[in-house]
Amino acid sequence: MNDPIKKRPEWTPEDNQEGFTTSLMDGIHSSHDGFHGNHQEKKVFHRRKKLELNDYFKGVLECNRTIMARAITLVESHSPKHRETADELVKKLLPHAGNSVRIGITGVPGAGKSTFIETLGNHLCDLGHKVAVLAVDPSSSLTKGSILGDKTRMEKLSTRPEAFIRPSPSGGVLGGVARKSRETMIICEAAGFDVILVETVGVGQSEITVRSMVDFFLLLTITGAGDELQGMKKGIMELADAILINKADGENVKKAQTTQSEFNRILHYLQPATVGWHTKAYTCSSLSGIGIHEIWEVIQLFLEHTKGNGFFIERRHAQAIEWMDAMIEEYLKRIFHENKAVETAYHGVRESVKKGDITPATGAQLLINAFESNAQD
Ligand code: GDP
Repeated sequence: MNDPIKKRPEWTPEDNQEGFTTSLMDGIHSSHDGFHGNHQEKKVFHRRKKLELNDYFKGVLECNRTIMARAITLVESHSPKHRETADELVKKLLPHAGNSVRIGITGVPGAGKSTFIETLGNHLCDLGHKVAVLAVDPSSSLTKGSILGDKTRMEKLSTRPEAFIRPSPSGGVLGGVARKSRETMIICEAAGFDVILVETVGVGQSEITVRSMVDFFLLLTITGAGDELQGMKKGIMELADAILINKADGENVKKAQTTQSEFNRILHYLQPATVGWHTKAYTCSSLSGIGIHEIWEVIQLFLEHTKGNGFFIERRHAQAIEWMDAMIEEYLKRIFHENKAVETAYHGVRESVKKGDITPATGAQLLINAFESNAQD
């Protein structure tokens, strides 16, 4: 239990390989993706049963959590063998997906993201929604650790039948993680989840990635020593559809309100993230629940507005194209580096560029030539 990423659930494939994301984080003791410490009998039922494409398809549509979790593991797999089934599955599920609101949530560690998601998620479940929580965690690819996953998170929400919480996929570059997260989103939607919360840590590139997969992007922040606005990058503020100042409780209420006015003043001069929508700052307390319903109302208003003017669907279409382009790029990069001639030449060319014997452009051309001559064989 001390090693948060070493717990292997029962749906781990027998031929599990490095890079196949099957570890669960510690702290979610009754997560919804098939690992229930106390339900040994249930585990036995699915153990070792190989699932065919149709089993996955039916299981996901029926919102069978164990099969959902296995389907997500399948789309997260790096193995070409799994990739084929995963692609087929996503293709089959696509017509059943999309009927949701996708909300991105970002903020620095400690801003209160998990507390906020716990409170908002429970509130939405009470309202009759089905809520899926996914994480895009850039740290997992950079450091093999996890900023988002190494603590007890969303304890009540994780036990609710109306909620599904999926830890971040690990390994690979952010782009790869994002592709997996998009496909995971499709699986959740096809299973009937109508609110998808995608959480990420505010460290730069990950916000842009998450922005490109959601309808509404929420920046969670807190009041500090008065320098929070200077520290906040303009670029990040311009991605947000709302800025929510969390921890507006106790002695912090006044400060939070001051910060809210300051944000509103600055937002006035910034480019809005969504055409025709004025990004504003709000306050809430994720601990007490104050302001949580209000932010949900803001999201409702946003949906009404963007669905009314056609921007909602336009953005989703643009995101689909972006997704396709990203997949092509990823594929090309992979086949380039897997190419035998490139592999052989790469190290030498790299050294020559490093030493200044050839220019980067010549180096690139040499490798491209090697690729092209070998690709035609
Ligand atoms: P994350 O790293 O962004 O996921 O932040 P957490 O949700 O783990 O919260 C960090 C700390 O802030 C925890 O100790 C929370 O209890 C606390 N916290 C979160 N939301 C609130 C809030 O609304 N009010 C107060 N007073 N504390 C909060």
